Amino acid sequence: MPLPDPVTLMVRNIGALVTCDPAHGDAPGVIRDAVLMCAGEVIVYAGRGDAAPRPTGDNDIVDIDARGAAVIPGFVDAHTHIAWLGDRGEEYALRSSGLTYEQIAQRGGGIRSTVRDTARGSAAAIRDAASTRARLMIAHGTTTVEVKSGYGLDHDAEMRQLDAVADLGADHGMPLAIATYLPLHAAPDGDRADFIAEVCAHGVGDAAALASFCDVFCDEGAYTVDECRAVLLAARAAGMSLKVHADQRTHTGGAQLAAELHAASADHLEFADEADCRALAAAGVTGVILPGAALILGGPPPPGRRLRDAGATVAIATDCNPGTSYTESMPLMMSLAVATAGLGPSEALVAATSGGAAALQLDDRGILRRGLRADAAILSTPHWIDVAYHLGANPVATVIRGGQVVVGAGLAG
Ligand SMILES: [Zn+2]
Repeated sequence: MPLPDPVTLMVRNIGALVTCDPAHGDAPGVIRDAVLMCAGEVIVYAGRGDAAPRPTGDNDIVDIDARGAAVIPGFVDAHTHIAWLGDRGEEYALRSSGLTYEQIAQRGGGIRSTVRDTARGSAAAIRDAASTRARLMIAHGTTTVEVKSGYGLDHDAEMRQLDAVADLGADHGMPLAIATYLPLHAAPDGDRADFIAEVCAHGVGDAAALASFCDVFCDEGAYTVDECRAVLLAARAAGMSLKVHADQRTHTGGAQLAAELHAASADHLEFADEADCRALAAAGVTGVILPGAALILGGPPPPGRRLRDAGATVAIATDCNPGTSYTESMPLMMSLAVATAGLGPSEALVAATSGGAAALQLDDRGILRRGLRADAAILSTPHWIDVAYHLGANPVATVIRGGQVVVGAGLAG
């Protein structure tokens, strides 16, 4: 079978090509002794080496010998807050001495301190801070990252954060970035109704030019279901898809709101019950679990098993943020999901790749299949389970983003 396009990159001697493609049987769809070929940004062959077509093209093919290592799809980290300034290490130490997140927030710390530091920063300063984190993410295999605003509480400051995100993905040394407008995050200083009305009147319209999604923090100590519904309906009218931080601290109805509005995702969900999980599944809402935040906050474990048993699509994300989950590592999140959220390693890998893509409504990535984006990670091990098993390690040796090697020199043959 001839290939339609000249091959520009080929990875051969792949011990285990972990496709995450349901077409290849039991998850995560492993093909042994495989080859991956790309033409430009797109996969043109992902299958057994002994059945591979001879690549067309010239001598410019980037030829990588995987030497028996496993290859997985690039991670899609569908929930992060990496566009922040300031440092909250002292607060972390205080929490370890017994103060709760809520007690620190009442003293003006917590998210309010990040809002103070970030809101007065320039878009360039925010981009630089986010870039440092984004480079660490791609070094751990993440090829697409969602980045939220939410540290503004002020229209112009929110737009500066979204401007910073727009600059991120242009650099090949970082994951592709998807922007989310998060106007309802910390509580406002002034009148809540005025704040919500301003977001609906002006915020969502301006944000829609910069962001794919609008997100809200629906929980005790944040925003009510009715406040969130008002903003989400305005955001949808402005052309954005919807996300909800739901049922993280208490059972407040965020998951049901996400189901009612057919949001792209409902995130956190530690206090979501079985009926909530079934409602998300029925509405086609991806449940995003955030094992780092659940671990640091010390509450109930993430509901990975409950969501799966209810038939919902599950995604795993880092929630990278300065208060409750300061990590860039998707492999670590997979380990925690297996250890604490009731997922098996194969479920965790699918959730970290195609699940993340579903949470971002991106159907062109998260699976290694002909015709999809060539976003992949070559591991330093033949055993893909090490990603979820080797706690705190980085098993990623080489990262391919859009058909180009962006991390690691490649294991040149
Ligand atoms: Zn979050």
